[in-house]
Amino acid sequence: MIKYNYIVNQTSHIRTGEIDKGSAFIAYFFPRIAVYDDIDGWNKNPYTGSQEFYNDFCHFNLSVTVPKNYLVWATGDLLNCDEVLNQKYCDRLHNAEQKDDIAYVVDSIDLKEGNITKQNEYNTWIFKADNVVDVAFALSNHYVWNATSLVVDKKTGRRTRVDAAFNTQHKDYFDAIDVSRKTVELMSYKFPKWPYPYNHETVFDGLDQMEYPMMVNDNPVATKFDLITLADHEIFHTMFPFYMGINETKYGWMDEGWATIGEWLLSPMIDSAAVDDYGMARYEKNAGKEIDAPIISLSTLLRDETFVNNSYEKPALGYLYVKDLLGDELFFKALHYYIQQWNGKHPMPLDFFNCINSGSGKNLNWFWKRWFYEAGYPDLAVAKVTEKGNTKQIIIEMKGNKPVPVDVNITYSDGSKQTFHRTIAVWEKNNKTATLNFTSSKKIRLIELGNMYIPDVNKKDNVWESK
Ligand SMILES: [Zn+2]
Repeated sequence: MIKYNYIVNQTSHIRTGEIDKGSAFIAYFFPRIAVYDDIDGWNKNPYTGSQEFYNDFCHFNLSVTVPKNYLVWATGDLLNCDEVLNQKYCDRLHNAEQKDDIAYVVDSIDLKEGNITKQNEYNTWIFKADNVVDVAFALSNHYVWNATSLVVDKKTGRRTRVDAAFNTQHKDYFDAIDVSRKTVELMSYKFPKWPYPYNHETVFDGLDQMEYPMMVNDNPVATKFDLITLADHEIFHTMFPFYMGINETKYGWMDEGWATIGEWLLSPMIDSAAVDDYGMARYEKNAGKEIDAPIISLSTLLRDETFVNNSYEKPALGYLYVKDLLGDELFFKALHYYIQQWNGKHPMPLDFFNCINSGSGKNLNWFWKRWFYEAGYPDLAVAKVTEKGNTKQIIIEMKGNKPVPVDVNITYSDGSKQTFHRTIAVWEKNNKTATLNFTSSKKIRLIELGNMYIPDVNKKDNVWESK
């Protein structure tokens, strides 16, 4: 859902109230039957904004009747292109579905000419979507429409179409199609390395920062960095909660945590200059304080930054550390096992933990317990440094209780640098120290612990300097 930093710190980026006349994004417009499950029976939690949705998988048939010259985008496949669009535009759309190039289905000149749709007083656009948890649609009479497609599954050759529909006054949106295409590609082949499961992904220039099956409703933003991190975050939600049927209402971390690690990992792949530390300062500020609750706490009971910390950066760090611990091959094996077991269903927290354990063949209960169930905070320190000629020993102390990876960044007296990395495995035995032994002919001048994704509530003791 909405990326909270925009609301909390960067209100200028939210275009609230700035209604773009002649376009709209419509969601939550039909009554739903609550989910009945074997955990709670009927799930009666109301939608209150922060706590999101829990819906069953359904087959949707959607008809949207709009005046001529309005275009409609929606979850699902458009079944009657030739009844609503003139031939030229249907051809362009079908073309886009078969080609890698980025093209305009509708450009500014087409809009000026105004003969894009059938010139009936009203046109009814018909869509069909199977096995999705929700359906949304958007419409406009003045948006341009970029489209492209790509093979998302090399085994079957299946393609996904990617669209961007936007107001040309919003300059950031000219890059949206490229960024969104790259996101779909990276999700299919790099992370989570799972063929994109739907026929299209449409990014619509709206007033929100919100995901739907096959649809994203994203406000315009000021910078390319904001565009990338917003688009990849919201598109990443395709897998979690939609493909996996997550109960977002109770377990925000089971979808927002994944969207957060998604944007952390994908953004630098899209733009190598992107440094995405989303949520890190916020967690370091709150870690271990009264408002910091265990991640497993029900989202329905949380609010403000307690809710935000628990839904976004804290679980994302947990996933990142498990990826680091297992290594990519085993991590993807475990993650894919979870996806296979639970797509189209409703996994609960224990289903996730158990699947990663079974899929990887490793019992990670010690970490699930300490990172997801227990209270506490991360705080490492350089405890002791011993140099005997070439033989070096550095003792790292865990002053907090949250197991985090150890990055020991060393600057030698000649100015050269070296980093030693240890995964969370060094803390598995509940030990309070970890020892790094190595040899070097150089003398150590400076030691600094940490990296961007290793939170630490007291950074002063992360530094050691030779006297
Ligand atoms: Zn989100």
